[in-house]
Amino acid sequence: MEVTPVKPKNSGSKQLFKNPLLEKLSRTHISVPVTLFLVMGAVLGWYAFTHTDMANWIIGLLFAAGLLIFTFVEYWTHRNVYHIEPTTPMRAKFQYTTHGIHHEYPKDKARLAMPPILAVVVAVTFFGIFFVLMGEAAYAFFPGFIWGYAGYLLVHYSVHAYPPPKNVFKALWINHSIHHYKDGEVVFGVSSPLWDYVFGTMEVRKK
Ligand SMILES: [Zn+2]
Ligand SMILES: [Zn+2]
Repeated sequence: MEVTPVKPKNSGSKQLFKNPLLEKLSRTHISVPVTLFLVMGAVLGWYAFTHTDMANWIIGLLFAAGLLIFTFVEYWTHRNVYHIEPTTPMRAKFQYTTHGIHHEYPKDKARLAMPPILAVVVAVTFFGIFFVLMGEAAYAFFPGFIWGYAGYLLVHYSVHAYPPPKNVFKALWINHSIHHYKDGEVVFGVSSPLWDYVFGTMEVRKK
């Protein structure tokens, strides 16, 4: 089934839930998750330096690996979860609630990050997975991952809230506007185009 693209509106917002509490929770000020993630990363990074035997360069390497893996998770989630094909009504509802609404109201600043409660659950789940997989290395790896997440949120917010800067970062503005206004099935990377180049989703498809 071909995805019918929603026409992006230049301003405004929309009620997502009938339940007033859910509706309120669906709106987030960007500074809340960003601060939360930066603090989480700082505390665990401090723990890695002070409470483990890992050498500084190992901690640095794990941090960089966490950042890189985050950019992949960001790409993969945006492409395969947020843009899941709406083949059933349930899938369509899920797609619209988690991401379709952002494509319809890309300038609604209160809906540029997932609700903090959900974000904390997701973050703790990721830390748990990393801890099971790599033990105490997770104390250095996770800060890279979660700071990558904070960086992604800031980039995504800036791209939608501010005009493009006159430097190399302008490319991020151009890339994301291709995804929003030209072809929603390409250019999934927001914080970097790396994985779009790896998986060949950088080019606008010929229709
Ligand atoms: Zn966007
Ligand atoms: Zn999208």
